[in-house]
Amino acid sequence: MKASQFFISTLKEAPADAEVVSHKLMTRAGMIKKLGAGIYSYMPMGLRVIRKVEAIVREEMNRAGAVECTMPVIQPAELWQETGRFDKMGPELLRIKDRHERSFIVQPTSEEVVTDIARQELRSYKQLPKNLYQIQTKFRDERRPRFGLMRGREFIMKDAYSFDRDMAGAKASYQVMAAAYRRIFDRFGLSYRAVAADSGAIGGDLSEEFQVIAATGEDAIVYCPSSSYAANMEKAEALAPAGPRPAPGQALVKTPTPGKSTCADVAELLGLPLQRTVKSLVLATDTLNEAGEVARTQVWLLLLRGDHDMNEVKVGKVPGLEGFRFATVAEIESHFGCKPGYLGPIGLKQPVKIVADRDVAVMADWICGANEIDFHLTGVNWGRDVAEPDLVADLRNVVAGDASPDGQGVLAIERGIEVGHVFYLGTKYSQAMNATFLDENGKPQFMEMGCYGIGITRLPAAAIEQSHDERGIVWPDAIAPFTVVICPIGMDRSAEVKAAAEALHDDLAAAGVDVLLDDRGERPGAMFADWELIGVPHRVVISDRGLKEGQLEYQHRRDTAATKVPASEVSGFVK
Ligand code: ATP
Ligand code: MG
Ligand code: MG
Ligand code: MG
Repeated sequence: MKASQFFISTLKEAPADAEVVSHKLMTRAGMIKKLGAGIYSYMPMGLRVIRKVEAIVREEMNRAGAVECTMPVIQPAELWQETGRFDKMGPELLRIKDRHERSFIVQPTSEEVVTDIARQELRSYKQLPKNLYQIQTKFRDERRPRFGLMRGREFIMKDAYSFDRDMAGAKASYQVMAAAYRRIFDRFGLSYRAVAADSGAIGGDLSEEFQVIAATGEDAIVYCPSSSYAANMEKAEALAPAGPRPAPGQALVKTPTPGKSTCADVAELLGLPLQRTVKSLVLATDTLNEAGEVARTQVWLLLLRGDHDMNEVKVGKVPGLEGFRFATVAEIESHFGCKPGYLGPIGLKQPVKIVADRDVAVMADWICGANEIDFHLTGVNWGRDVAEPDLVADLRNVVAGDASPDGQGVLAIERGIEVGHVFYLGTKYSQAMNATFLDENGKPQFMEMGCYGIGITRLPAAAIEQSHDERGIVWPDAIAPFTVVICPIGMDRSAEVKAAAEALHDDLAAAGVDVLLDDRGERPGAMFADWELIGVPHRVVISDRGLKEGQLEYQHRRDTAATKVPASEVSGFVK
């Protein structure tokens, strides 16, 4: 491929709405282009990455015995009414009408259609097991589309569906898929973890998520470094001995703690773990107008973890809080609709920003100050439902240092990006849609199902979150848009450079290497900056000076300097 024929459009500046590095870099590298909220064009450079992801997924799905098909993006509402999901799915499901006023949906996933196919086509036990998959556009009207391809509204998903004669068969099919997923994610060259998951709205009881490890991930994952225990936070919380969970509005226990003011002392006195203590502060920030008057006051509830002295935490002493002041009682009352000291249990009437260590639990059974010397509140429920769900979604009832449920050590928490999900479904859909087959005795039986998703377009974003530097993307070889870029210096002036560059390009291309020759005539600095931004793993620079010594310059995207190599040896570096 020659760069002059390809479509390259790099940008110096990231778009203003880009919060995470993958969104910034994919836009700057010209891989995606925004059309609307959560809706992107996959530009040629980005599409090459997506196609490579798809190819790996397709190869491993086929190897695992799944069979590819394509189901419609637009699906009749009747099918979705059969399972009740037309109503149950809520606003994430995009519903549309045709010219005859008939209702349709845009597929967010395809259990209904695939079950409809199965009930018509798979009549006998002899046809089972079967696993059908597609790699297709999905649409989910996400409440908050963001982070570029990471949480789009339109995106590409690989979704597979297994059909078996019985539960044992379905569980075996599930294990085949779980193993295929491990091969797939190994091949992407990313660091990931398979974690136990709650089966959520889809139902069933065997479910794992594949999480790419990244600090910016939206999910908290809980694992035990000294055993194989790993679960997503929802699952971990479901298993955790959560203690009482008072409902918002329930009275708190005001507990005497004479003479105790540090978190550690209070925890010890009450015989509760230190991780359950939290210092809450209600703080305010003032925005001044040009005349220096207070134009607007924002009130913040802050939860601080660690062994703070509950009487002595002073704003200004806590790093990061320098711009705040304590809110006045009147401000707290007007903002939260309640008196200070009772913020947690009675529920906050208005959304409130909660700024805290991301893995603090806010659900229940907390200890905090009672705004009265020698007293603390226990059983505090911070009322996740009444605070901004996005900000508190991460604030959970399981904290690092809790005992692992397998008894093998203590829990650690890290952030992840959900790139894949495998579910055992049982007969949830086959019963709802009456999908039966005839068994050996000619008796109808409900099919046992599983479903298996991979976020094809989320994956490149997750890869970038994990692998980038200040200059741009660092793609793993397996999904890079090009494996090698040849950068000739002065190609327009030097016949030797041109000939060498073209010869190397043709050699590598003939050997099946995904190579691009940058023949745009850019200056070396601009050319290198582009390819470092785009993240091509291997770069070969060809110059007159090098050619005189019979050398080319090879540099891996992770190398800090180039290595001189004889032209004949270049292919050894890039494969
Ligand atoms: P999330 O928890 O991130 O909302 P999900 O659990 O709703 O994802 P699934 O129904 O399990 O998603 O879909 C299978 C896969 O599709 C997910 O593992 C994820 O990789 C991908 N996916 C889901 N929603 C989106 C989205 N809005 N944008 C891009 N990819 C997505
Ligand atoms: Mg979702
Ligand atoms: Mg999820
Ligand atoms: Mg999921």
